[in-house]
Amino acid sequence: MRGYRLLGMIVILCFFRPFHLLAVIQARDPYDHHQLQMDLISLKKEFGDILEIRTIGRSVYGKPIQMVRIGEGKDYILFVGAHHGREWVSANLLMMLIEHYATHYREAKKNGFDPDVFDRISLVVIPMLNPDGIDIQQGRIPPEHFFELWLMNEGSFDFSRWKANAAGIDLNRQYPAGWEALPSPAGPFFKFFKGEKPLTAQEVIHLVEFVREEPPLAAVSFHSAGQEIYWSFGDRQNVLRDYRIARRLSRATGYPLATPPIHAIGGGFTDWFIAEFSRPGFTIELCKGRIETNPDIGELETEFARNRDLVYVLIEALNYHRVR
Ligand SMILES: [Zn+2]
Repeated sequence: MRGYRLLGMIVILCFFRPFHLLAVIQARDPYDHHQLQMDLISLKKEFGDILEIRTIGRSVYGKPIQMVRIGEGKDYILFVGAHHGREWVSANLLMMLIEHYATHYREAKKNGFDPDVFDRISLVVIPMLNPDGIDIQQGRIPPEHFFELWLMNEGSFDFSRWKANAAGIDLNRQYPAGWEALPSPAGPFFKFFKGEKPLTAQEVIHLVEFVREEPPLAAVSFHSAGQEIYWSFGDRQNVLRDYRIARRLSRATGYPLATPPIHAIGGGFTDWFIAEFSRPGFTIELCKGRIETNPDIGELETEFARNRDLVYVLIEALNYHRVR
């Protein structure tokens, strides 16, 4: 009897593996810039031989914005998280994916996919583009900036809706692709202000410089919420290729595809990436609902399970469609 119980326990443990496999980082609670730094140190300690971690620039308040590279491939795929303050769950998810993929890569685990792919095509992750916005959204507000932020927040003391950076610019409405036509508040605001010109928010400038220096084969930008995938913008030159790749990502994650014409308002990172490089770009909206605050951290486990094979599926699709 005891043997059966033990066997049962082992079977149960085998089916509840996703979080138990992750032992290095602590990204299971609401995430902020400080915890990200702690987790990057832990990743460096554990996987220093196979990860490159580098600062690509600094936020308005001077916080470092880091990138993490897995693998040796000169060609790479880019994942970007947390353009928006209240969407820090995307940084949680990306840090978990880094540990997950790094473990595969080091241990050459097959898991249905070949981890050696990172020797040919590496993965670069920028988990948290907007660290100031996240800290503001979580109520950690520098006293010297309180008054200006409070004004941008419509005089509310509840900052949990905050999307913008510390200068009140919406970082995903800053890119030079359809920017002119974007509606916008007249000045700095907790969301939707597109800036006086494109590419004026320094977090966006750092990312654009990084991407232009050596453009990735494909890019995925992670937001919340809505559980869908945006995949198209502007001229329809590669629409069939990108649609087919998006379909594969949809099948792997279970997120449906968004209908392009309705949502193609422009100004976002993915819009710009598709328009400037004619390579596949995708926006993944994590978590349920369309809420004016951060998603429930309780959704992280299922979101991780949906996205755990994403990079492998994307690399297979790029190879199949010969994206160079
Ligand atoms: Zn967003």
